[in-house]
Amino acid sequence: MLKSKTFLKKTRAGGVMKIVREHYLRDDIGCGASGCAACGGAHEGPVLELQPLDRASSLCPQPHYLLPDTNVLLHQIDVLEDPAIRNVIVLQTVLQEVRNRSAPVYKRIRDMTNNQEKHFYTFTNEHHRETYVEQVQGENSNDRNDRAIRVAAKWYNEHLKKMSAENQLQVIFITNDRKNKEKAIEEGIPAFTCEEYIKSLTANPELIDRLACLSEEGNEIESGKTIFSEHLPLSKLQQGIKSGTYLQGTFRASRENYLEATVWVHGDDEDNKEASIILQGLKNLNRAIHEDIVAVELLPRHQWVAPSSVVLQDEGQNEDDIEKEEERERILKTAVNEKMLKPTGRVVGIIKRNWRPYCGMLSKSDIKESRRHLFTPADKRIPRIRIETRQASTLEGRRIIVAVDGWPRNSRYPNGHFVKNLGEVGDKETETEVLLLEHDVPHQAFSQAVLSFLPKMPWSITEKDMKSREDLRHLCVCSVDPPGCTDIDDALHCRELENGNLEVGVHIADVSHFIRPGNALDQESARRGTTVYLCEKRIDMVPELLSSNLCSLRSNVDRLAFSCIWEMSHNAEILKTRFTKSVINSKASLTYAEAQMRIDSAAMNDNITTSLRGLNKLAKILKKRRIEKGALTLSSPEVRFHMDSETHDPIDLQAKELRETNSMVEEFMLLANISVAKKIHEEFSEHALLRKHPAPPPSNYEILVKAAKSKNLEIKTDTAKALADSLDRADSPVFPYLNTLLRILATRCMMQAVYFCSGMDNDFHHYGLASPIYTHFTSPIRRYADIIVHRLLAVAIGADCTYPELTDKHKLADLCKNLNFRHKMAQYAQRASVAFHTQLFFKSKGIVSEEAYILFVRKNAIVVLIPKYGLEGTVFFEEKDKPKPRLIYDDEIPSLKIEDTVFHVFDKVKVKIMLDSSNLQHQKIRMSLVEPQIPGISVSADASNMDINEPERKKKKLQK
Ligand SMILES: [Zn+2]
Repeated sequence: MLKSKTFLKKTRAGGVMKIVREHYLRDDIGCGASGCAACGGAHEGPVLELQPLDRASSLCPQPHYLLPDTNVLLHQIDVLEDPAIRNVIVLQTVLQEVRNRSAPVYKRIRDMTNNQEKHFYTFTNEHHRETYVEQVQGENSNDRNDRAIRVAAKWYNEHLKKMSAENQLQVIFITNDRKNKEKAIEEGIPAFTCEEYIKSLTANPELIDRLACLSEEGNEIESGKTIFSEHLPLSKLQQGIKSGTYLQGTFRASRENYLEATVWVHGDDEDNKEASIILQGLKNLNRAIHEDIVAVELLPRHQWVAPSSVVLQDEGQNEDDIEKEEERERILKTAVNEKMLKPTGRVVGIIKRNWRPYCGMLSKSDIKESRRHLFTPADKRIPRIRIETRQASTLEGRRIIVAVDGWPRNSRYPNGHFVKNLGEVGDKETETEVLLLEHDVPHQAFSQAVLSFLPKMPWSITEKDMKSREDLRHLCVCSVDPPGCTDIDDALHCRELENGNLEVGVHIADVSHFIRPGNALDQESARRGTTVYLCEKRIDMVPELLSSNLCSLRSNVDRLAFSCIWEMSHNAEILKTRFTKSVINSKASLTYAEAQMRIDSAAMNDNITTSLRGLNKLAKILKKRRIEKGALTLSSPEVRFHMDSETHDPIDLQAKELRETNSMVEEFMLLANISVAKKIHEEFSEHALLRKHPAPPPSNYEILVKAAKSKNLEIKTDTAKALADSLDRADSPVFPYLNTLLRILATRCMMQAVYFCSGMDNDFHHYGLASPIYTHFTSPIRRYADIIVHRLLAVAIGADCTYPELTDKHKLADLCKNLNFRHKMAQYAQRASVAFHTQLFFKSKGIVSEEAYILFVRKNAIVVLIPKYGLEGTVFFEEKDKPKPRLIYDDEIPSLKIEDTVFHVFDKVKVKIMLDSSNLQHQKIRMSLVEPQIPGISVSADASNMDINEPERKKKKLQK
């Protein structure tokens, strides 16, 4: 049966368009119950169990299926995900509404319907002849959908009755909407609220913990006094923003002070992004949570405040003790310099909540038998959350996940509910899970939908593949990587041509051959954006079959590649460049050390070795030329952990060795990236995906210049070339480590390199590499940017076809935004992983004393670097409840005088390092000064600012 719906739509130009949509109604849609005779022949496989005896409900003793409405799915998804909840009917009407309102919840429902054990069935009620309802006059679409849901629930109950009288299967409608529930009961449909139903499951009392506590924000004042002012409705906020009464911005809570936050006002353009408003005090923060989009009202000038420099952590137990908070707020406002006052405001409403599930720990209430407890998130910018649980004793001391449900006006803390128990604090797997969650690293196993787009095994190169590609299997190609590398995405060759010139090829895994635009595999890779390397774990961007097998350019197997081939003079001048899709057969997978040994060993003269020597010679010339142009060679103290192969505990740290062969590979990867960048920009001036590295503003260099000056050295920073040259000259015969320290400091002055779309920007320059244009082409297995670049290049040379999204610069700009975010988060996650392993290392090692150098001096502390461990930490000179030493800080010649001892940047000191486990949630490496001794004061230490370098990765993979 065909029904057509006609509706009118306003076009952008203001005209009216008539749209006719055809709507097919069918009689062959199954109810999904296994063994249902009436729908025996239905297409979709039955997924609801015939005898769902999994739950014993005191409200509904007979076997039953659940049919939740949209709001229950949206707000109670955590409890529905519990393994105890099975046999659930998800109506098409409901699914569509969820999809429009929350993409993450929609995805979670899809995951459940794909999970066979959950027995979730999607019923396409909108296409079923007996359950389709048309909107009637005077009925809004919300009411129409509510009616459609009830019609489907009623149909189900009647249908199941027909199936078998003795079976007595029922469908229970779950809704928290009071009116809808009443109507359903009137119509003879068994209906309960989510809470009623969950509480009736007497065999599963733990489920109650996972219920979201839903009191509508704003109108929930039953008890207690109001603390916060009301949030204005969205319409009022929009009006106010339009008229300039309110400002819209992103709420960023302070890490150090829970009573302070900054709102970054959304400007119309990039230049406006500096505008920020400071908020101080609970009432002005008005229940906004980090990352929410809020509307703020600016306070009159006489109420403006200055950012406080006080560290304040919320440690209260008595949750509604507001007087104390007010006292603390007064402390914040102690006399400050008039000049330091900043525009100050208060939150008047929330435009968009940006809550996510938070990791953290439970602080068990002191009140005996209390079920209400406070949860402390690991992220200090998130407020503590009140949850109700009966399992407090079990959950204490463990890492758990909690979701926020709402924040009533009379409550000091937001309300939330328990979601998941991750495991014990300090347990390696638990901590890894926490750091992945906290850095938003997608790390679930790849779904069946994604895996379904992988090639079927056994896989081999077909005739058709061969025909469209250049056969380069005869070339002596080899790869050079760190030991144990299984995802080899590049290989090289070099040979002499008949005309006496050299031919060099960079061959990159042809990942875009396997990942086709728009399918689930492509979407998931785009979402992940990058492979994440932790100390002992790799979270792949693409499934292992591709990353470690079909795409990995292993030796002695035929592999598809995308090749960049140059003809060069012996002086490394590029004479010709070409790109081709190819088939290669690598002759050897070498480690850096093996490649170096071959180059150095006079006895070896085979093809592989000759090729390597040729590459090495050219690379040296290329590097020299690049440095002459002003490319920076910066430094970070690179160390790697040696893991115990059995326990995976870190047993030692070692400084990373750099061989010539590391920079040999790096040099050719840079060259390939530059060549490809030029080519795709030539072909697609408006939508090439490029990578730039902005020059830092001069003020960034102040620290470096002043520090060098204190050692009588001059660092020039007008251009990258000037900086590179003055760093080269900055040497001290008595202090060989000085140059490395200067380069470490220089690294800290740099900006982040970012991906961008050429049509959306006009500054392409890569400062660090001194290249006018740059992109990423050489690591498509581990970076999604490279896959897009491969696709663009393939279209440019006619080796593949294009698709609409590839040439849409706005889509590309959105993609770049995600990739830049994922890369940043991957870096932070890596650092957190190193920090955790450093803690494990020092836990087993006890207290050690080591040589350190001062990197920065602060007003009350020094920041030191311990080269042996690549570890950085802060040594404080003030201790709680102890007499304060006399401190004199000089900003000009960066120095700190403590009593009679003066500390300068780069001074060598000796520090004691130990692990402080006094705070279970935040274990800390603490440092204290051993030498020089300062008479009369005891010094203590804190390395909470620990900022250590990344774990060992391929040199060439570093964020160039
Ligand atoms: Zn049926």
